[in-house]
Amino acid sequence: MIVFKFGGASVSSASSIRNLAGILSGYHEKMIVVVSAFGKMTNAFEGLLASWYEGSPDRFTLLGSIKEYHYNIIRELFPVGNHPVYDHFQFLTGLIQQKLKAAPSDNYDFEYDQLVSFGEVISTRIVSSFLEAVNISNRWADARHWLVTDDTFREASVDFNQSGPRLKELISSAGPGLLVTQGFIGGTVDGHTTTLGREGSDYTAAIAANLSDARSLVVWKDVPGILTADPLYFPDAEKVDELSYQEAIELSFYGAKVIHPKTIKPIQNKNIPLFVKSFIDPQGSGTVIHSVDKPYVLKPILIIKKDQILLSLTPRDFSFVVEDCLSRIFARFFKYRIKVNLIQHSAISFTLCLDNRGPFVQDLLEEMKSDFRVLYNEGLELITIRHYNSVVIKKHTAGRQVLVEQRSRNTVMFVVR
Ligand code: ASP
Ligand code: MG
Repeated sequence: MIVFKFGGASVSSASSIRNLAGILSGYHEKMIVVVSAFGKMTNAFEGLLASWYEGSPDRFTLLGSIKEYHYNIIRELFPVGNHPVYDHFQFLTGLIQQKLKAAPSDNYDFEYDQLVSFGEVISTRIVSSFLEAVNISNRWADARHWLVTDDTFREASVDFNQSGPRLKELISSAGPGLLVTQGFIGGTVDGHTTTLGREGSDYTAAIAANLSDARSLVVWKDVPGILTADPLYFPDAEKVDELSYQEAIELSFYGAKVIHPKTIKPIQNKNIPLFVKSFIDPQGSGTVIHSVDKPYVLKPILIIKKDQILLSLTPRDFSFVVEDCLSRIFARFFKYRIKVNLIQHSAISFTLCLDNRGPFVQDLLEEMKSDFRVLYNEGLELITIRHYNSVVIKKHTAGRQVLVEQRSRNTVMFVVR
């Protein structure tokens, strides 16, 4: 068994879906193909959700443009108008339309999962039908049934014990053909749809690889592999040929966008190698993440997070920042689903760097004000360098004002203005 994962960029147009089929046709073994929503559709569904919550009539226009984007792809892939995929698509968008006519419930996270998950349900229907049309025999597998999770909507925890047998049953029923399934989404035992967190399709693919004891996992990307920096800002970024599981988990933790942070554990636990390869150049060697037992030297790797907030909290009653206070702080971060990128604390103050993203940052700050004096700076950048040396540090911090610096043996972090 091998598991392939195709993210949004690899399924953003009819020609990219043809390219995907071309890649698959070069492999002749049992396979699970995990597919994300097309292009930027998850963002579009998030916009639709926001407009639904605002009660705005624009939501129907937004749904119209989501439909149009998919229709353009479908029309190109299935020029014969009576293909069953048209009915499937109409049925699914009909369900969305129905939903948008009523008011959403108070449970935002729940509604998020019920609505945003349509991106993957639709994309996999179209990909599966297209593969069938080009004689790549496959079965559409509904991740809401095989990937069992708890009901922490928008950040669900996966139940590996229940999911394993369900996936194995699907694999045996698929016969020699491959399985096409959705990334990012799962379901509770009572049949509610859940999601695993943004960009969670990599994680789905890793779960599928773990549960099916796959020989390897390949994540197909629009870059040649894992690079030493974001090529968008650093054209001299170089490809890294191999990484240990540990290095990969560290990189994703610090915000390297190549792989979702949760992806590594399921494959490391079964010692499954993960290849990051380019769907534009499928023959390229890519990057392999595996267990590395010999010492290897890594080039400095740069990770930049923009739009950061540096928050400093001081208890109003001047008490020490100790365990119960820390747990109160972190419970709030968890409640608002805000990830903390850097922490520094002294006796009576606590400094955190976080992404200034999502609708909840202001709510969090308000809530913190009840027992802390809250100071913050916005519009900052967090620069992380793994395997740093003085030359790279100089190159990336020259001319910047450093507000916080944190250094360990392998990693240095700077919050800069
Ligand atoms: N479509 C989802 C997202 O954009 C999941 C993924 O792409 O991994 O967040
Ligand atoms: Mg995506």
